[in-house]
Parts: sequence; structure tokens; C-alpha cells
Amino acid sequence: MIKFLDLKRINARYKNEYDEGFKKFLNSGSYILGNEVSKFESEFKLYCGTGHCIGTSNGLDALRLIFEGYKILGKLNAGDEVLVPANTYIASVLAISSSNLRPVLVEPDSNSLNIDVNRAKMALTPKTKAILGVHLYGKLYNVNDLEALCEANDLILIEDAAQAHGACMVNGRKAGNVSRAAAFSFYPTKNLGAMGDAGAITTNDDALAQVVNKLRNYGRSSSYENDFIGYNCRLDELQAVFLRIKLRYLDAENEKRRTMAQLYMKLIDNEEIILPEMDHISEHVFHLFVIRHKNRDRLKSYLFENGVETLIYYPKPIHHQKAYADLKDLPLPITDRLHNEVLSLPLNVCLNSSEIEKIANLLTDFR
Ligand SMILES: *Cc1c(COP(=O)(O)O)cnc(C)c1O
Repeated sequence: MIKFLDLKRINARYKNEYDEGFKKFLNSGSYILGNEVSKFESEFKLYCGTGHCIGTSNGLDALRLIFEGYKILGKLNAGDEVLVPANTYIASVLAISSSNLRPVLVEPDSNSLNIDVNRAKMALTPKTKAILGVHLYGKLYNVNDLEALCEANDLILIEDAAQAHGACMVNGRKAGNVSRAAAFSFYPTKNLGAMGDAGAITTNDDALAQVVNKLRNYGRSSSYENDFIGYNCRLDELQAVFLRIKLRYLDAENEKRRTMAQLYMKLIDNEEIILPEMDHISEHVFHLFVIRHKNRDRLKSYLFENGVETLIYYPKPIHHQKAYADLKDLPLPITDRLHNEVLSLPLNVCLNSSEIEKIANLLTDFR
């Protein structure tokens, strides 16, 4: 069986470096917000090209702290509307609701599968104050158009970069640096994955950086001074050890993912299968390789019977979740159709080209 993702194999490649790192960590005696966290923050902000990086407990908390931070700064207020793509992972929307803001779901563009900027424009109301763009599956959203829309309407552009570590425009701007503030997740399956929960915020907004830096640590400004009602959302020191090691391999691994994606593109020959959009290849880091087919469930079983595990990201859209029953009557036909058609093929750094050939041949032969 070709597994969708084998985390044990993926992490085994770094075993020696992890062992070394853990030994140093153990001997350091410093286990919360120590040197490893601050070194990772310096390295990751340099990597993204931003003025600041603030490590957090996970991606959802990173997003939530950005929204809460802008509320403290008076740029957002409870009840404000935030546009967000309807086909994203639910965490994007949870961050908006749990900050007492109102998520407004916008349909994606059916080629890029990212937010449709024209539809976003049509969804604007006087209460719209921000847009949460998502680089879904690892592909940057339409940066130029989304920035222009936000600028023209005085909206804060926030970035969910949880799937796009390292995605880069031709002008060199990277995921994490194409908005006012970005949230990353280092959940173990992501392109830059820790060995547990971890996340980060990157931003060039000095005021926001100061606020979220306190918010993640009880709202503290110093040991016994608390400026805000904060949280405990710190990046774990041990996760920073692992992340610093893995960050060094991120560009090479993303390049490998792109090569695999191009091989799939070259080999899959089946008119019924819709392949991912491949323009601006540096802007895509293929967190997932997502194809579409009108008989998706039959295709999934066929692949499984032939020894290939695939997954569906995501089987049930947000507006059909019980948690969001208030959104259930929204007409979102593109999102509904995508959720019935999308299928993620195995694509990870442990996969080899003969496995990709096998999968591609099976897809070519599917009728
Ligand atoms: C993984 C993910 C998140 C949440 O990150 P966690 O670290 O699991 O909290 C948010 N948004 C998107 C698009 C994701 O893929």
C-alpha cells in the first residue's frame, strides 16, 4: 500500500539531528520561551522577510491572537465582518468567530481554488473590516488583486499561511509577508511540521507585534506587569528545537514537492480528471496535490483497491457543519461541488518517482 503520508518515515530522516537537539535542550535547563524559541523566531522572520516573528502554540491560536491584537489596537471591533474563503479548513473560520467577529464566507475561484476576488468585492458591506486570505493547498492567493481590494476599501488583509511555508512570488515576496499579519501552523503534517503542536505569527506591523508578543504570554509586559487580558499561547521550547532543524531543509523539500507535482501533471492522462492550476509554480508549495473528478468516491475506492491511499480535504464544508448551523442556508454551489469532487493524492518527500508513476498510470486507466 502506498500510504498517503508516513510521518514516522518523514521524521526518521532527521533522527540524529533531533537526538542532538534534544540532548542540548535537556541540558539547557530552560524549557519555556528560552533561546531556541527566540532563535527560531529570528530565523523564521528572516526566512519570510518580515520584521517580526512571534512563536505561538499552534496555527489556530496564531490567527486568534492576530484578531484579538487588532481589537486591542482599535482596528477591529466585536461584530465586524471578516471575509474568508468558504472552502478553507474550519480553523480559519473558528479564529474569526472565537474573536467575536463575524465570518462571511466567499466562494473560491474554481481554477485556483483560492478566494475569488470579484466575489469578495461583491460581499463587502459597511461592516466589512478585514479579509482573511488563505493559501489553500500551498498556493498563494491572488496577492496583487486582494491587496488592491483591501487598500481601496480600507480593510486589514490577514493571511492564513498554514499550508504555504516558503511559497514565493517572482518578486521574492513570500507567504507570511503578503498581508498585514500572517499565521502559520507547524502541525506535524504541514510542509514545515513540528513533532507536536506549534505555530507562529509573522508581520511588519510593529504595533501588532508588540501586542501579540504580550498576548501569547498572559498579556505580560514584564514578570509582574500585565497590560492585557492575555492567554497562554506560547511556542513550546522543544518544538522550536525541531523546527530550527527542519527549517534548513524546507526549500529543498518544497522543490522536491514541485518536481513530484510536475511529474504527476506530465503522466496523468485522463480527460475526466481536473488537475491543479500550475501557473506561477514558485507560488505553490504543494502542501496537497488536489485533483477533481465527478465520480470522486468511486475513484477513491478504485485507487484504494489498487494499493493507493488518498484523502479528502475537506469532505464537509464549513456551512454544513453543526457548529455553523446558522450558515447552513447560504447558497455556495461552487464550494458544495468542490467538496464532492476534490481528492488529495499522496505527495510527500518520502515518495519516489516509481510510486508516482504507478499512481499516475492508475489514474490514466480509470474509466
Ligand atoms: C492546519 C491549518 C490551520 C490550523 O493550524 P493548527 O496548528 O492545527 O491549529 C489553520 N488553517 C489552515 C488552512 C490549516 O491548514
